[in-house]
Amino acid sequence: MAKLTDPVTILKGVGPTRAKQFANLNIFTLGDLICHFPRGYEDRTQLLPIEKLEVDVPACFRAMVMNTPRTSHIRKGLDITKVQVADHTARLNLTFFNNRFVTEQLQYGREYIFYGAVSGDFIGYNMTNPTFEALDSQPVTTRRVLPIYPLTAGLSNAALLKAVRQALELCDPPAEIIPEPVRQKYGILPAERAYRAIHEPQSMAEAEMAKKRLIFEEFFVFSAGLSLMRASRAGKKTESYVNLDLAPFEAALPFTLTGAQSRAIGDILTDLRRGVPMNRLVQGDVGSGKTMVAAAAAYIAAKNGRQAALMAPTEILAEQHYGSLARLFEPMGITVALLTGSMKPSEKKRVREAIAAGQVDLAVGTHALLSDATRFQNLGLVITDEQHRFGVGQRAKLSAKGSDPHLLVMSATPIPRTLALLMYGDLEVSILDELPPGRESVDTFLVGESYRPRINAFIRKHVAEGHQCFVVCPAVEENEELDIKAATVWAETLQRTVFPELRIALIHGQMKGSEKEAVMASFARGEADVLVATTVIEVGVDVPNATLMVIEDADRFGLSQLHQLRGRVGRGRAKSYCIMTSHSKNQETLLRLKALCRTTDGFKIAEEDLKLRGPGDFFGSRQSGLPTFRVANLSCDLRTLQDAQAASAEWIDAEGTADTPEAIALRERIGELFTRAEGTMN
Ligand code: ADP
Ligand code: MG
Repeated sequence: MAKLTDPVTILKGVGPTRAKQFANLNIFTLGDLICHFPRGYEDRTQLLPIEKLEVDVPACFRAMVMNTPRTSHIRKGLDITKVQVADHTARLNLTFFNNRFVTEQLQYGREYIFYGAVSGDFIGYNMTNPTFEALDSQPVTTRRVLPIYPLTAGLSNAALLKAVRQALELCDPPAEIIPEPVRQKYGILPAERAYRAIHEPQSMAEAEMAKKRLIFEEFFVFSAGLSLMRASRAGKKTESYVNLDLAPFEAALPFTLTGAQSRAIGDILTDLRRGVPMNRLVQGDVGSGKTMVAAAAAYIAAKNGRQAALMAPTEILAEQHYGSLARLFEPMGITVALLTGSMKPSEKKRVREAIAAGQVDLAVGTHALLSDATRFQNLGLVITDEQHRFGVGQRAKLSAKGSDPHLLVMSATPIPRTLALLMYGDLEVSILDELPPGRESVDTFLVGESYRPRINAFIRKHVAEGHQCFVVCPAVEENEELDIKAATVWAETLQRTVFPELRIALIHGQMKGSEKEAVMASFARGEADVLVATTVIEVGVDVPNATLMVIEDADRFGLSQLHQLRGRVGRGRAKSYCIMTSHSKNQETLLRLKALCRTTDGFKIAEEDLKLRGPGDFFGSRQSGLPTFRVANLSCDLRTLQDAQAASAEWIDAEGTADTPEAIALRERIGELFTRAEGTMN
């Protein structure tokens, strides 16, 4: 018996070449192979009469070979074999290219099962390169539900299936982690059956059941892990803060806090005085004023003699926070320092020393703040901005710094409430559902290509008024198959032929981190008029002077993503606009985009997005801050997720610390998932 951790090379037929192909798919062990799930299935269980075959729809049928296959040599490298088959309803001509085995395998007068798609032409129906099997053979490519796997160059679906089958013969699938009563209650297949059925289902229905079980399992592990994290933190003690007077802080602000900001800060004060580490998420749409909520928390920490750390996902965002917070805090005698990766080593050293000596009240930085070299004298509060860039694993690592500091995470990703519950199961949530007063919403329009001259004129007008523009493209480079705007090409076109007089800059995800930061910073300083970008600017710096965003081929983006992008403008005093272009003729797509023109409520948009696309997309996109889920990425229904969460909560209450085989296996899996989460994020 082999183990799940054994390397794939112990399988027959898996040598160094194959192993390399597997490695491309992140498959190293038998366990990885068994967890390499199909991305879909082809139902080849039904046999159709030839007469019922539809053009271009692949199907199975049983037919007799009506003549001896004949091969003609057309030219070097091209042999064509023709044969006619028939059933009681019709005849069909088959054509095979360069397949010299056909002549040996297909025998006149015998019946076979074929799978293929007919193509119609003026001479009649024909079928090219069908697969076929003898009636008495073991079904491999016909008469079954065929799993279709994510593949890599050189590795065929059949080869992969064969390897998976071997692996499942050699070792048991991952251990059961869901207790029997839970499985019964939620109608979940046992592990053993699900892991086998996902690869070799007897029917499409069984494939669905297997998928449901595996999605359930994945979320069960994830939510149980979050629950355990929460339970362990809830059991910890920390000093309660007693100085909770915010009046001087509020007096120093150039504006009055919004109701939502006050409520969130109220939640935080309650947390801070409880004597248990805070674990709170502040979620608010772009521009809702999360920074001030964070600042209030940092202020209270400082007033209670504790240091605070504020982590941002990019250097430039860190610098921006540093600038505004230093301006606010220094006059109150609260020291703010900046620590980022690109600072000179000597400078970093100096800042780290000051932090270690307790001379810094609030340290603002990137993940340099997380490195072991940074030691705090008495870290009381950790704040992460734009939380979705930080994974669960990092959340855990953060709180391990200092003695259980309070944790405040801030996120602008408008995640639907239903999903937020799931993703942030270990956090309490405060929502900023109100924008500061006087903020004008970004007027959004959806237009077709005929508006191009007007768009160009609009860009010119904004620049002439001293403002800046973003132009967002769905791709970095040109792609022959897809007729969509590529940032690199479009930037050049704009510069050369449309706006030779304007300063056009380019930023995209394939650039190095430092390059991106440099471009962003230069744009923020006003050194370019138009920034052509991909979605990398989704989370970014405040450029209040940018008042126009053009989103090309908007139908290529998700609604939430469009909303997030749009949040890059409308951050200053001037009226801002967002223009989306689309070639799409699909009414549904256009309606979806038009919805965005009407509403500016990120949560509503997110719910809409969720309804339209299903949760798979939320989990699929790396921005979610979640570990990469294996099955859930495919497609899943919300119901299964919610069930899994409810089940894991019940389980934690009932036997979270028990030593049943399921409980032990589950805790192991939680450990693995969270370690993986740490590895894949950032
Ligand atoms: P986000 O939630 O996107 O992080 P910010 O914290 O960056 O939002 O705030 C956006 C802008 O709104 C900033 O320029 C900030 O100074 C301003 N702001 C924040 N709170 C208020 C308020 N209560 N009244 C007026 N302006 C505010
Ligand atoms: Mg912010």
